[in-house]
This record gives sequence, structure tokens and C-alpha cells, in this order.
Amino acid sequence: MKNIRNFCIIAHIDHGKSTLADRLLEYTKTVEGKDLQAQVLDDMDLERERGITIKSHAIQMKYNYKGEEYILNLIDTPGHVDFSYEVSRSIAACEGALLIVDAAQGIQAQTISNLYMAIENDLEIIPVMNKIDLPSAMPDEVEDQIVELLGCPREDVLRASGKTGEGVYDILNTIVEKVPAPKGDPEAPLQCLIFDSVFNSFRGIIAYFKVVNGVIRKGDHVKFIATGKEYDADEVGVLKLTMSPRDEIRTGDVGYIISGIKTSREVRVGDTITHVARPAKEAISGFEEVKPMVFAGVYPIDSEDFENLRASLEKLQLNDASLTFQPESSAALGFGFRCGFLGLLHMEIVQERLDREFNMDVITTVPNVSYKVYDKKGVCTEVHNPSGLPDPTLIDHIDEPYIRASVITNTTFIGPIMTLCLGKRGILLKQEYISGDRVEIHYDMPLGEIVIDFYDKLKSISKGYASFDYHIHDFRPSKLVKLDILLNGEPVDALSTLTHVDNSVTFGRRMCEKLKELIPRQQFDIAIQAAIGAKIIARETIKAVRKDVTAKCYGGDISRKRKLLEKQKEGKKRMKQIGTVEVPQKAFLAVLKLD
Ligand code: GDP
Ligand code: MG
Repeated sequence: MKNIRNFCIIAHIDHGKSTLADRLLEYTKTVEGKDLQAQVLDDMDLERERGITIKSHAIQMKYNYKGEEYILNLIDTPGHVDFSYEVSRSIAACEGALLIVDAAQGIQAQTISNLYMAIENDLEIIPVMNKIDLPSAMPDEVEDQIVELLGCPREDVLRASGKTGEGVYDILNTIVEKVPAPKGDPEAPLQCLIFDSVFNSFRGIIAYFKVVNGVIRKGDHVKFIATGKEYDADEVGVLKLTMSPRDEIRTGDVGYIISGIKTSREVRVGDTITHVARPAKEAISGFEEVKPMVFAGVYPIDSEDFENLRASLEKLQLNDASLTFQPESSAALGFGFRCGFLGLLHMEIVQERLDREFNMDVITTVPNVSYKVYDKKGVCTEVHNPSGLPDPTLIDHIDEPYIRASVITNTTFIGPIMTLCLGKRGILLKQEYISGDRVEIHYDMPLGEIVIDFYDKLKSISKGYASFDYHIHDFRPSKLVKLDILLNGEPVDALSTLTHVDNSVTFGRRMCEKLKELIPRQQFDIAIQAAIGAKIIARETIKAVRKDVTAKCYGGDISRKRKLLEKQKEGKKRMKQIGTVEVPQKAFLAVLKLD
């Protein structure tokens, strides 16, 4: 135990976490340079492309320091707010953290929020200024920021480059010297903290854990405390580049267990594994049930694909326990599913995987948050779909989720950012200077406002120089009304949204204008109306057009004519027929595009 070091890497997206992790693997000879596939830790294609480590993994390295062999367990953490609970459990499994800060970018919002998590868990923090090879690096300025943030001596800030390999041995030595060995009692009843799980199509669910107390052996009869389920440990082992089976995993070490578990929902991140025969008195603290906060309808374009879509979602759920789905039907879109996601990025990932891995053509509706709707008797129902809102006369009030957010930016952009946040019903809490002209602004804001075009706007008004981080804070009562959209007098349920009463009229007007742009002209007039209850608050008309695409062909060349018709059919693919009106996919997301 005294030669084990468990650590994680905290970094804002793109500050070089994956690149540096690869270097650590290379310098400890865990992988040979030539085998080093770019960014071993991001093994999903999608992750590599986005440069985001979506699922956390762990990897064991051996490192010789002053003639002694040390085991270094690197626990990788996802780098995005949607997965912050997973980050918190990975951090809880470690004794130390490398805090990576890009020498050109300086400290960003994600750096700080994850750092606080590490400090709360008493981790030893090793600050590393990365990318010092960059010509645009500002090492002295960024060092000031780090020193100010951590209150550490200047000499403690390591300088490194994941690209050139500079400073990597320094980092390894510092990990051995500074990160404390894990504590824990090998004789005590077993407690293993699950910090991640993955699905393997041959072996089922593989859970990753850290042994906090006791010893887990192959063949042990174990129990997962939160789910109450019992299993036999068919295999336990440590994580190298591949899984290496072992007879036992002892206190302080990190490993995996395979026990015939079929679905991801049985393995909860944060759960505790113990022995059935000699159980631990209590679970490791900090377990939380992660609940999806963002919801959207997902509908097959071709209604015949409904069962295929269900099968695809089931497959996705095998390795993504935080994805939920329930069948629902929409008058406009037919049969589909209401899916629940941790956040917007999670939603995008699921959409993209449905498209790439399952070849599913789907229409996704505008995302909305989870609302708590109270009736006059005080009974609360969670509503995940605006069109599922009960009759307004039955509602006493509606609570919506609020986030506590932090924006870090340059003082130049404070004005426009404050205007944006105010427009999103943000409540300013405080404003702090980090160093020089960098400032951190704290807000409480409705999550419902963030899921609609907040990121893009923040990015454009700050020219990319603002970072944003948040966590769900509480639910608060809000004056929300349901805004319906009617096409030629027919309400289109998939276009309903909940909006704050004060913004509702402007919002309705902009929706109508946007839909007018997005819905192609057809052979008859189309009336677009926005309504709250029975009251029409806005209206636009799309004028009819008579378009005969084959007219150009003079009736002559048949094959050319056919080609044109086929092309037109292609163009219709992502269209949905609503009453007599053909509506393209992008119209269902119109609300995301309002300016
Ligand atoms: P992550 O999002 O924190 O995992 O960041 P990555 O490791 O994916 O790196 C983000 C980008 O920065 C990639 O394009 C890397 O090639 C680049 N990068 C990473 N480390 C360095 C470095 O030390 N120097 C330079 N110049 N570029 C780096
Ligand atoms: Mg990465």
C-alpha cells in the first residue's frame, strides 16, 4: 500500500489532459512509443474527434523512483459539466491531482470547479503549467494566476509540455514524492468505491473501483449496497492497457470486477461493493442518484423505424446508465421516445451515436428541463414535456431547476455577458477578480434558459474568451406559461414550449418569424400562429408557390427528369408531414435559432 499513488488529472477542455496522460504512459513504458495510438485514454471515436474524454477510465503504471517500484493509478475524469457527478467520484477515489493549466489560456471555469472538488476531497494538488512550448505561452502571467489561486509557492508550479515531453519526468517524480499513499484497513470489512463502469459485449458490465478497506478476491460473493444486488466476482483484476486478471485486489489499489452484470443500470457510479458474508456497516459516503435534467422527444422519420429506434436506445443504455427513455406519442410526429439526458452535450452525443452507430434517421424536438408542477392540493408531478402540462386551471404553481453558474472572462466582455445573463433571467450573485483583467462572475439562472442557445451566444459575444461552468442548485417557483404553435390552425404539440410569462409575447413573435424562414413555401398559404391558451399572440403567413421542378426539362430527357425527382425526394427526407404541411427537422429546433 505504501507504494501506491492514486491520482487524477484536472483540466479545462483542450488544456492537454489526454496528451499529457499519453506521455505518462509512454514515459513509464506502460505503452511503447510506437504503439501509442493517439490518445489511448479516449478510446471512443467520437471522443477522439471531439477531444473530450466522455467516460472516465483508469490505468495502472509502474514507475521506478530511487530504486523502488511504485504503482501509479491514473484515474481519468470526464471534462464536461454534464458529467460532474462522475468526476466527483473519480476524484474521491484519488489522493492526489495534477492541475493542468494551459500556459497560453490561463485558468478557466472548469479548472476552478474541478479544483474545488479536489480540495474538498483533501487531494494533494500538483500544479502543472502545460504547453510551455507554445509561442503564445505566457508562463509568468499564468504562473501568477496559479499561485494566487492555490496560495502555493512559485517553485511548486511545474512546467511541462505534453507535446515535446518536457517536464514529464518531473511530474512523475513529484507524484511519488507528494501524493500520499492511500489509507485504509486491509483487515476491515470490504468497501470498494465504484467510480466508473463500461459495457463489454462479451463480458457484460465491467465496474471500476478503488478498494477503500479490505481485500476483494476472485470468486467472492459480493453485494452492491445501493442497488442491494448480489453477485459472484467471476473476475477481478487491474487495468493496464488491457485488463489483467488477478487473484485479489488489496486496500488502496484500483481494479475492475466482472460479475455477469447485464445492464448498466445495475452498476451505479458512487455505489459501494462489500462482502455478503462480512458486510461493511455502511456505504462510502457521497452516493447520489444521478437524474436526467434535460429532456427531448426523439422520433423516427419513418414511423416503421419505431421498434428499431427502441432497440438502438436500449443498446445505448447498456453503457450509458444516465440515458433514460420512455415511449411517447405526438400528434405531429407520431410514435417516439421522450429521452432524458444529463445535459446538452450528453444529448448531442446520443443524437450523434444514433446517427453514426445505428444509422437511425430521427427528428429531435427542442430540449426542455424537468418541471415540478404542483396542483391546488399540493401534489407534485414531474413534467418532462411541455405538451404534457396539465390544464392551467388545475395548476397551483410550477417549479423549475436553477443552476449556480460561473463565467470566467476578460473584463472587456463583462458588459455584454451581463446583458446576456440578465436576458436569461440570471440573478447576479457576485463578481471577483482572479488576477489582472480576468474576472469570475457568479449567477443563479434557470436551467431552462441555458438549454436554449446560451452557449453559442456566450461564445460569440465573448469571441470565445469566456468559459462557463455550472451545477444544479435548486428548484424555484416561476411564472411559466405554455406557448403553442399552430400551423394552418392545427396545434403542433412538438413545437410547444414553456416560457416565462414576461417574455412570452416577444418569444411567440420570434418563433413565428423563425418558422416562416425555416418552413419552405408550399403550394398553398400556410398560417403560423403562436397561442397561449386560446389567445393568439402572433401570426405570420408563408405565401404559396407553384413549383414545378420538371418544367425546366421541356418534357424531353426522361432520365434527367427522374434524377431531378429523386433529388427532390432526397431533400424531403428530413421532412415530417404535419396535416398538409411539410415541416423540415430544423423547424423543430427553431427555438434554438432565435436571435
Ligand atoms: P484535453 O481536452 O485536455 O484532453 O486536451 P488534449 O490532450 O486533447 O489537447 C488539446 C489540444 O492541444 C490538441 O490539439 C493537442 O495536440 C494540443 N496539445 C496538448 N498538449 C500540448 C502541448 O504541450 N503543447 C502544444 N503545443 N499543444 C498541445
Ligand atoms: Mg481529452
